[in-house]
Amino acid sequence: MKEAEIMRTKGKLILILFFSLFFVSSSILFVQQREAAAVKLDKLSDRLFQILGGRGANGGLYIGDDGVLVIDAKMTEESVGQALEEIKKVTDKPITYLVNTHSDGDHVAGNRFFPRTVTIISHENCRKEFFHPRRDGEPSEWNSPELAPFIPSLTFRDKMNIYLGARKVELWYFGIGHTTGDIVVYFPEEKTAFIGDQIFMGRPQLIHSYKGGNSFEYVKTVTRMLQTLEAETFCSGHSEPVDRSTVEQQVEEMKKIQEKIKSLLKQGKSLEEAKKEFEENQARLVETIFNEIKSRRQ
Ligand SMILES: [Zn+2]
Repeated sequence: MKEAEIMRTKGKLILILFFSLFFVSSSILFVQQREAAAVKLDKLSDRLFQILGGRGANGGLYIGDDGVLVIDAKMTEESVGQALEEIKKVTDKPITYLVNTHSDGDHVAGNRFFPRTVTIISHENCRKEFFHPRRDGEPSEWNSPELAPFIPSLTFRDKMNIYLGARKVELWYFGIGHTTGDIVVYFPEEKTAFIGDQIFMGRPQLIHSYKGGNSFEYVKTVTRMLQTLEAETFCSGHSEPVDRSTVEQQVEEMKKIQEKIKSLLKQGKSLEEAKKEFEENQARLVETIFNEIKSRRQ
């Protein structure tokens, strides 16, 4: 009897220890997440800035003659608050437009913390993706009526020009890639394009197949962009600004990976065998491409 009690106490102690460890480690994680670098602006020209830091992707800011356009929204109230403060330091003009480059949370979750007077713009497909179930199959939070005012209210299909006084900003859609609704915000005077997540440096390109993204379409879409725009600088959600040849190299890299997977499939290799032919961090992209090729054959 006594021994059984000791065993029970021991069991309880182990449980307590386990849960304390769990809470300590998860609160450390929480603190790490909270300690994102402060939001700051990075000047590209007198009118054009990158918005860096905070929680969420890099965005952009363009000061027009009579209003301001912001590209992507960060994720949290704190980061959006910081961004709005930073914007006030460089202009007293009101924010007129918020452009979402695509529907991922790190670019759109902060929409809800912008003033209600701001017009939110996206591609038609991006707006649809707001309501798409999440990767884990859970329904989208954007179905909730309280968030309705923060879903893009202005959409386009191929191209839209926005005039902020005499200043023109071009929104372009070149096709499916990272998702089905990625757009490019192009500033002709600066020859600078904000391309959202259509390029990643130092890590493999993300293709969200669950939203309809496709790596083969990605190659066509980014190639079309390079052929159409005279952009020399490409700003994106998670990388430093890059030049044209870097974007070209990324497209070539994607084509190489696709060709290699095609030939592995021809040799009858399984997905697991194919993954072994690549770097570990490429596994997700390899799986995406592998499945794309397979489903085309079926
Ligand atoms: Zn992103």
